[in-house]
Amino acid sequence: MTWIHDFIALIYPRICVCCGNSLWKHEKLICTSCNFRLPLTGYHLDPDNPVSRVFYGRVPVEMAASYLLFNKGGRVQRLIHHLKYKGRKDIGIWLGEEYGKLLAASPHFSGIHLIIPVPLHKRRLMQRGYNQSDQFAAGLSKSLNVPVANRLLVRTRESSTQTRKGRYDRWKNVEDLFLLLQPELLAGAHVLLVDDVVTTGATLEACIAALRRAPGVRVSVATIAAARL
Ligand SMILES: [Zn+2]
Repeated sequence: MTWIHDFIALIYPRICVCCGNSLWKHEKLICTSCNFRLPLTGYHLDPDNPVSRVFYGRVPVEMAASYLLFNKGGRVQRLIHHLKYKGRKDIGIWLGEEYGKLLAASPHFSGIHLIIPVPLHKRRLMQRGYNQSDQFAAGLSKSLNVPVANRLLVRTRESSTQTRKGRYDRWKNVEDLFLLLQPELLAGAHVLLVDDVVTTGATLEACIAALRRAPGVRVSVATIAAARL
């Protein structure tokens, strides 16, 4: 049936999301060369990494890590851009699967009961048609063999833009932004909270504050990428 593949490739040439070069049949979303050059953080092996340090003195976090380093204009930005704005849900699932394999082999991400993606506001979800963090969560779920719960945590309103705000203003902006439904369901659970990019950590901090309404809950964090922290 390879002629079908070739025929489809003729109409829709498959190109690398990162560099725009044509993909070979065995290549999935990005070319081998770009895959080889993805800036992996290695944070999942180091509990005292820049992402976990974002939460120090703010909210308790068991373990936090990001798969990739976010560089403006770089490969990771292009991956995230296609995932968020070009309908490429498959990128989120693939990144989740790949990162899940690494997390499954890390002693710092063991014993997770449930994956919870940072929710979008209802209106944003309608516009985009999907939540990019749900896609990442689905991939992680497959590799970690842990279920996803994406209806327990809800976003009550849209946050205004976070740039050029101090830490206190950022916090005021996201306070009560999320609501945990049925907190008793998460009592004593170890939750993996997942998002696309961690920058200031304010959004994740607000999610964790909401999750902590569940008695005895423990929260770890995994994101696709980390901005320079
Ligand atoms: Zn490429």
